[in-house]
This record gives sequence, structure tokens and C-alpha cells, in this order.
Amino acid sequence: FENERTWARFVENNSTDSFHKNFDDAVGQVQKDFGKKYPMIIGGKEIFSDDVFQVRSPADKNLILGNFPLATKDDALHAIEAAKESFYKWSLVPYRKRVQIFREVADIFSHDKFRLAAIMSFENGKNRLEAMGDLDESIDFMRFYAEQLEINQGFSKDTKNDNPTEKTKSTLKPYGVWGIISPFNFPSAIAIGMTSGALITGNTTVLKPSSDAPISAFKFVESIYPKLPPAAINFVTGSGGIVGKTILESLLVDGIAFTGSQEVGMTGYSTFEASRPRPFISEMGGKNPAIISASSDIEKATDGVLRAAFGFSGQKCSACSRVYVQKSIASKFLERLVAKTVALKIGKPWEKDTYIGPVINDAAVKKFQKASDIAKKDGKILCGGSLVSDDTNKNGNFVTPTIVANLPLDHELIREELFLPFLCVEEFENFDDALAMANKSSYGLTAGVFSQDKNEIEKFFEKIEAGVTYANRAASATTGAMVGAQPFVGWKDSGISGKGAGGAYYLLQFLREQTQTRCE
Ligand code: GLU
Repeated sequence: FENERTWARFVENNSTDSFHKNFDDAVGQVQKDFGKKYPMIIGGKEIFSDDVFQVRSPADKNLILGNFPLATKDDALHAIEAAKESFYKWSLVPYRKRVQIFREVADIFSHDKFRLAAIMSFENGKNRLEAMGDLDESIDFMRFYAEQLEINQGFSKDTKNDNPTEKTKSTLKPYGVWGIISPFNFPSAIAIGMTSGALITGNTTVLKPSSDAPISAFKFVESIYPKLPPAAINFVTGSGGIVGKTILESLLVDGIAFTGSQEVGMTGYSTFEASRPRPFISEMGGKNPAIISASSDIEKATDGVLRAAFGFSGQKCSACSRVYVQKSIASKFLERLVAKTVALKIGKPWEKDTYIGPVINDAAVKKFQKASDIAKKDGKILCGGSLVSDDTNKNGNFVTPTIVANLPLDHELIREELFLPFLCVEEFENFDDALAMANKSSYGLTAGVFSQDKNEIEKFFEKIEAGVTYANRAASATTGAMVGAQPFVGWKDSGISGKGAGGAYYLLQFLREQTQTRCE
């Protein structure tokens, strides 16, 4: 397995004419499908409805990208029942065949990735590089999990037993039906990662995509469902209050994989676990710190923080939203960071040089305005803090990347996840205090440190309370985990499972052990 998403490719995409030429072509092609009516996929059939919701581009709300059915409770129940029924058809398919199917879909995605990335750019506002990163990561998830299944020979092996009349074996078996609830920010990678984990291990699935970005998820379902027994994958679109709730309340559902906000995740968890114990895999946000030591290389540190805080407008669970910088270099660091931030190009995300696209919806804009007002009152805004006022923003959700200093250490803007391009900066005197401040959060997803002092780096890795940690990563202080290399896992309130997506233990969560004894 070789990663589709690599650092070398990222650099190449950033600079080569051929990447941008292919992207330009794709942008032209995908517009032909705008406004189309999309179906749900239930029981192996396309289900259309007259009751639809519109998907509009956050960069230009006049652009209607597609119409999706607003599922009823009955639609969701049918999908769950259909998934239950097809469980034995799919789970008994030999693992080598399942591996082969995922590799075929990965190849289809690899072939189509420019068009898929262009769609995503319109749909959730990712710039070219971020959208392509999402597609590459989707492909990596499929290939990586296929390889894991193969390396582990379908997770079945003979066990040691000193009784000569018994032959014994341990085999990991799928649970049954999994509900998959996926977010807008990685509408392809996270939807595919979670669904692939469940499916490739022999479970059947009901996928509810984010209503802000269902097209990207649909593209996966469309590619894979004809290769599976009917209803091994079901795709149900609509509101969380109806579709999500029906999945979480159903006793026929055997497990949930969820990525989204902490609030929704914990409500879902309590609902799901209330009636019987079942696995609930979740990844639920972060308030991710970066610690900048006086010994750090300031160019690297400012690059790393800039990309982690403002890549995809901070709308990543992994985004850096808190910086702790050592007092002696604070003004130099901030001057550099602000200069780089105000130079970021804001624009239509599918256009060549855009770095900052829109935020996802009106609610995100309102949240940004509220946070900026609070920051003005309780701290000092170093840059940003306003909506984009030029033409870019005629019909879109554009806000300026914002850096705030001087907030009280336990301020709500330092505690709560915003999911916006909004960075809070605090100063520290000594490194131990910085670690304590970084850890003083209910979240524990990602964290970064910039330092050229080996002891500080070791201390960071010993004490930091986060699942995904990085030292001196100029490419991005806290974001951009690679499948296989950096399993993505939340600690504390950031997640329930403790096993990282894109890691060697991820698939185990979708399986339960059965020991089999055959006597003579
Ligand atoms: N895996 C992504 C990263 O490392 C973030 C996923 C998320 O935001 O949920 O940047």
C-alpha cells in the first residue's frame, strides 16, 4: 500500500501547471450536473422524492448544486431493515473478495479524483489543495483497510490448545448493521473511512451524510453499491432530527460510527447506549493547542500554525485554535504570524490561488460574528474579526481569518470549539506552564509543539494529553494526519473509541470475537 496522499504530491499539486489545468477542466465539467436531483439508495434501489432539500455552494449561494430527498422516518426504518436482511449475504462473502471490491472502488476514485475534488470545492468550500487532499485520503482509507484485512487474513486464526481432541479457533466477526453519521468537513474522506471500516469487515451499513455536503458522500455510494449485495450499503439523506434520530433509536442497529460535534456526539451516545450496550465509535472535535518555545524556528512555527489554524478556514476537528507562545519571542512571532495571515488569498475555493474559501453556512457566519464581538470586548483582535467586505462575498459565507490575544486563560473562546478561522493566542513564561495550559481543556485531539530543545520536545510527548501529536511540523502544526502514518484518534472529550482512523487497530472496533471449538 502506497499513499495516494503524500507530501511530495502536495508540493506538486501546489505548484504544477498540470494539476491546475486538470482542475480547471474538472471545474468546467462538473457544472453541467448542477441542479440535478439525487436519489437515496435503500435496499439496492434508487429512491427519489418530491420532498427535497437544496444543496447550495457556501461560496455562492445562488448556485444550487443538487436536490436530495428529505427522508421520512419510514425511509430510515426501511434502510435499517434492508441492511439487517442483507447482513448474511454480505458478511459471508470471503474477505479476499471484499478486499478486491474496495480496491476497485479506490481505483475508480483515483481515476476520477479531479472531478470529485472539484465537486467538493463547490459543495463545502475547500480550496483545490484541501479538496484533493480529501480525495486522496479517501482512496488511502480504502486501500489501507483492504491491506489490513489481508495482513490479518480476515482476522481468523487457530488458537493454541493442549487438548488433542479439540480444534480451536478465534475468529473476529462483524456485528451486523452499522449506522454511519458523517460530517461536512471531510465529506468524502470521513464518510468513506467510517463506512469502509464497517463494510470491509462484513457489516452492513446505513449512511447518513451531512446535509451540507451529501454529493461527495453520494459519489462513494454510487460507485460501490452495484458491487455489493443489495442493501449492504444504504444512503439516507435528510435531517438529523429524523434520520439520525431514527438510526440512534433503532434496536436493529448494532453499532454507530460518528464524526461531528461533541454536543451531537454525546446526545447520540446517550440515546444509543440507553437501550442496550453496543459499540459507538466517535470523533468529536477539539480545541487544539500549539506551544511555541523561545527556542523555536519562527518561520517554521508561523507556517505550521498558519496552516493548522486557517487551512479550510479552521473547519477541521484537528485545527489549531489555541497558541501558547513564550513571552520573550511573543511579539516577533505574532508580527510574523499576522503578516502571513493577512496575506492569505480569500476567494472562490475552486479558483487557482485561493487559500481561504467560505465557511460552511449561515450559522457558521453568525457564530463567527458573535465570537468576534466577544473577542473585541474581552481581548484584543490582532487581525480579522470581520466579514469579507469586497465582491468575493456577494453571495457567499466569507469571513476573515482572525487572531485574538489577551483573553483570560479560562475564557469561553479558549475553552469552546468554534470550527472557524479563529485563533486565540496566550503567552507563557516557562515550558511547564505552557504544557499545563495546553492540557487544561476538556478536549484532547491534536497538539503541536515548536522547539529546538530536545528536553522540551520529550516533555511534550510525555505529558501532552492528545491523541495526535506533532513536533516542529511546519507543514501544519496540528492538522493533516496521513492514513497509516498518523492514526487519527481523540482522547478525553474528543472521542470514545481510543483507536485511530487510518491505524492498525481501527478495524478491530467493527468486529467481535468468537471462539470456535470443534471436538473429535
Ligand atoms: N484527519 C484530519 C486531519 O488530520 C482531520 C479530520 C477532522 O477534522 O475531523 O487534519
